[in-house]
Amino acid sequence: MNIHEYQAKQLLREYGAPVSEGVPVTRAEEAKTAASQLDGPLWVVKAQIHAGGRGKGSFKEAQAGEKGGVRLARSVEEAAEEAQKMLGRTLVTHQTGPAGKQVNRIYIEDGSDIERELYLALLVDRGSSRVSFVCSTEGGMDIEQVAANTPDKILSFSVDPASGISGFHGRRVAFALGLQGQQVKQCVALVNTLYRMFIERDMEMLEINPLIVTTDGTLKCLDAKMGFDSNALYRQPAILALRDETEEDPKELAASKFDLNYIALDGEIGCMVNGAGLAMATMDIIKLYGAEPANFLDVGGGATKDKVTEAFKIITSDSNVKGILVNIFGGIMRCDVIAEGVVAAVREVGLQVPLVVRLEGTNVEKGKEIINGSGLDVIAADDLSDAAEKIVKAVKG
Ligand code: GDP
Ligand code: MG
Repeated sequence: MNIHEYQAKQLLREYGAPVSEGVPVTRAEEAKTAASQLDGPLWVVKAQIHAGGRGKGSFKEAQAGEKGGVRLARSVEEAAEEAQKMLGRTLVTHQTGPAGKQVNRIYIEDGSDIERELYLALLVDRGSSRVSFVCSTEGGMDIEQVAANTPDKILSFSVDPASGISGFHGRRVAFALGLQGQQVKQCVALVNTLYRMFIERDMEMLEINPLIVTTDGTLKCLDAKMGFDSNALYRQPAILALRDETEEDPKELAASKFDLNYIALDGEIGCMVNGAGLAMATMDIIKLYGAEPANFLDVGGGATKDKVTEAFKIITSDSNVKGILVNIFGGIMRCDVIAEGVVAAVREVGLQVPLVVRLEGTNVEKGKEIINGSGLDVIAADDLSDAAEKIVKAVKG
């Protein structure tokens, strides 16, 4: 789960990390009051969406030369004007995809004078099974190019969980970032704080880009991105309260409410499968036969009829779906339950696209009877490759 920059900065503030003052705004008429709470003489007006690259992004239907999702202003009036211009519009960045994201919130921040822009991040490194720091002197809006073209300018090291964080790690970061004097002390404290937050709050990712050196020589977190391990949210109520459902894919959101493992993808064949392994295999074999899966969906072992019905509704709500493949191996899951769910869902939402069903395992005969007796226009398949071949043929002709 991700949170907004203004929420991440509030969390940083609570832990004592250096951030600017700022005020979030959701309605245009609040913008002026919000901006006047800050001292100036520089204000930064920032679109709050769950995606990076806002500075270089552009709004849909932007006027020629119009600025992106991070704008500087020199007066309260100008800051309020910029906020009003951005609210409600759709911002497209290299991380949002071409559809972009609607801006429902603006963060107005007290502007900083920047001497240098640095990069500092923490993440769970699956390779070493540890938390890793990543840092670079080349922070700011072009970090992706730095990683691609001059990877030697990025330093990465992991922290041994047994001994934990120590001053050594902070000094290593400070040295790599070319910091001096008081800044080294600040950096050691910041590295400590970030690591502690990361562990205590079950984060997956914490990125400060840019971490800046201000013109008066102090460190400050100018941007903040945080991602949290969704499997740990049950013990992080304060983090869960920061969830912004409007930022999530509505299909994935509906799936999470029914405890379905669902990920939306770009293809044309909707898949309903039980078991993550079988779901992966089904996606592979769809590709093998020349089509692309529209989703990953594992309905789980103990799915009820309601859950199956909901899963089917989520698949059919995706306008990219040109055909559906139901592939069930009934182990703990019974084939008749799946069949009942599919029939109930089709009765409720209708069936506009071809449907191939492959059932195997517990109560398979009963399941097939339910499907055959339903009068629905279902294409039956015997095994995995037969099923994939049939659905791809039905979609592609
Ligand atoms: P992102 O584009 O989504 O990563 O948004 P950032 O918050 O990182 O802002 C993008 C860029 O705007 C930064 O790299 C800075 O160059 C600039 N910027 C952001 N805040 C300030 C500020 O307080 N003062 C100045 N001068 N520039 C800022
Ligand atoms: Mg940034």
